Amino acid sequence: MTDLLTRLTLHLNAQQRELLDRSLAAGEATDLAGLVARAVRERASGTVSRLPVPAVSGRVDDWRSRLAHPVPAERELLEEWVLEPGTGKAIEVAAGELLRIEQIDGAQCVDFNCFNLHDYREFFHTGRTRTLHGINPGPGDFLWSSPPRERAMMFLLADTAHCNDVVFPRCSANLYETAYGFAAHTNCADIQAEAQREYGLTPDDVHDSFNFFMATSVDDGMPVIHRQSSVPGDHVELLAVMDVLAVPNICGADVMKTSNFSIKPVRVQRWRASAADLDAVPELRAYDTQRTVEQFRQPVIRTERALTRDPSYRPGFVNTPVVYDAVEVTLDADTLALATAEWDRVRYPGDEGAALRDLLLGWWAESHRA
Ligand SMILES: [Zn+2]
Repeated sequence: MTDLLTRLTLHLNAQQRELLDRSLAAGEATDLAGLVARAVRERASGTVSRLPVPAVSGRVDDWRSRLAHPVPAERELLEEWVLEPGTGKAIEVAAGELLRIEQIDGAQCVDFNCFNLHDYREFFHTGRTRTLHGINPGPGDFLWSSPPRERAMMFLLADTAHCNDVVFPRCSANLYETAYGFAAHTNCADIQAEAQREYGLTPDDVHDSFNFFMATSVDDGMPVIHRQSSVPGDHVELLAVMDVLAVPNICGADVMKTSNFSIKPVRVQRWRASAADLDAVPELRAYDTQRTVEQFRQPVIRTERALTRDPSYRPGFVNTPVVYDAVEVTLDADTLALATAEWDRVRYPGDEGAALRDLLLGWWAESHRA
């Protein structure tokens, strides 16, 4: 081994260095060379550690403090509806209350959205939910709000059919015209819009839905709808951890497999949750990056539709400019031998520093998964 080969230069920006410094502060290795040696060793042996993300918020999200009512020992039924085909309903669900959606005839997809009752600009987000829980979330998963809020809104307490989807957007009028030639057809986007109009929301305020009782997969990169098997009595129960406006609707798709080619009524109930229901919600963490309107540089909701430039605008992007610093790291012969066997020569031809950075940060991401 030559000295030239054992001393490598990593080009790391400040954020990457912060991440590695926090790993060192957490005792994952004594110095950067040691961390590289650990990463290389674990990647080579295929036994990557599961490590806690160092220095994350230690705060607990005390969502129970948002409860407006005392928690009863037993559940209390507060309201009940039967949603008829072609319809939906906007329902206020306070923190500590449950929304139960139950099959009457079986095999009926129910599209669902929710908004923070006190700020409609915070709303359920399929992307965040999909990232954390996959494309078919189930019992024990949360419904999360969109960035930059990214808070738990509701908890999926019960889910007897475990047949849910967060890949497909809600069906829309235009979908039925382009795919089937219908000038007018029951569709979830319009049903959601009509239901939430009761609270002054516009059709533009309808968001991609959580689709309960919808069987889907992704095959060869394309989302696919399957027939479903939910039966009468199958239900989901959503426990609100903040006050929400919930909008369930009967999916209007009677010419697709979604609800087995028929659309049927569904029962919806609002309950005050019991102490045992609340105890079933896992502890939630609170983060400063779950932004509030007070943290927005532009907190005002626009009312005019046309966009015009603000001539006083000055960019304020975070952590910019992103600068890469050269960081020398010395590898012992064993580490170097393992690293050279592991790293990606095709992606980084002739650039050992980039290959080692990929190896090190790739190990970090793999070992610190939540
Ligand atoms: Zn639909």
